Amino acid sequence: MCRHLAHVGPTPVTLASLLTEPSHSLLVQSYAPADMRGGGTVNADGFGAGWYVRDLLSDSSEDHARGPVLYRRDDPMWTDGSFLDLARAVETTALVAAVRSATVGMPVSTAACAPFRGEAGGSTWLFSHNGVVRGWPPSMADLAATLPALDLLTLEAATDSALLWALLRARIATGKDPVDAVAGVVTDALAAAPGSRLNLLLGDGEQVVATAVDHALSYRAWPDGGVTVASEPLDDDPAWTPVPDGSLLVARPGEGHDPPSVAVAAL
Ligand code: GLN
Repeated sequence: MCRHLAHVGPTPVTLASLLTEPSHSLLVQSYAPADMRGGGTVNADGFGAGWYVRDLLSDSSEDHARGPVLYRRDDPMWTDGSFLDLARAVETTALVAAVRSATVGMPVSTAACAPFRGEAGGSTWLFSHNGVVRGWPPSMADLAATLPALDLLTLEAATDSALLWALLRARIATGKDPVDAVAGVVTDALAAAPGSRLNLLLGDGEQVVATAVDHALSYRAWPDGGVTVASEPLDDDPAWTPVPDGSLLVARPGEGHDPPSVAVAAL
C-alpha cells in the first residue's frame, strides 16, 4: 500500500535529500518497502511530489501563483530519470510526496496519484492517502452525497483517495479547522466503512497534519527545526519515532533552530 512523506521546515532542503538520497528514501520504498501492512509488494503505479515555492515567487502579488508546484506520473518513480535529476536541484521548505500501489479495482492514472492539490479556506493544500476504504464505492455513497454536485463532477479520479480528498477539502472550504476536518473525515469514513485503512497526510506549507489508522507512520525532527513525517523511516537513525495506531499528528517547524512542535493525540 502506498508510501507517503511530508516535510516542513524553516530552511530549504532539496527534494532529493528526502525523496531519493537517504538509505531508505521514498524512492527505495517504491521498490523495496519494509512495512507494507495489509497487502501490496511494490509501489509502482505512479508517484507524485508537490512542493511550496513561495520564496521563489515572494515578489508576486498573485497569491495563486505561489504554488505548490505539482509533479505526478503514472510510472514507477525509478523509471523517471528526469525527476531523479531535478530532485537534486529543487529546494523547498515544505513538500508532500507519495509512491502509489493502486488498490485492486481502482484506475492507474496520473490523476489518481497523490498528492492531490487544491485551494480551500485561503490556503493551497497537498493531500495524500495511504490505505483503502472498505466496500468502496457503495460504502461511501451517503458521505459522497453530502458533497456539492460540482465537487463530484470534478473528482480527480474514481478512487477512494480522491473522494476522501474531496470530502476534506469541502469541509475546510466551509471554514472548519483543518485538524478537526481531518479527524472528522477519518471518523466518518470509519463509521461508513469499518476496517478501512486511513493514513491521511495534509500540508499547506506551514504545517503537516497526519493520521495513522492501520498503517505505518513515523516522524523525526531535524537540527534546523524542520520535521519529516513518513510512512517508513528514511534511514536507521534512532531519531525516528513511530506514531501509534489510531493517532492524529500535527507538526509545525521551529523558528531560529528551535525544535519543531509535534503533537500526537488519539483520534
Ligand atoms: N486506495 C488508494 C489508491 O488506490 C491508496 C492506495 C494505497 O495506499 N496503496 O490510490
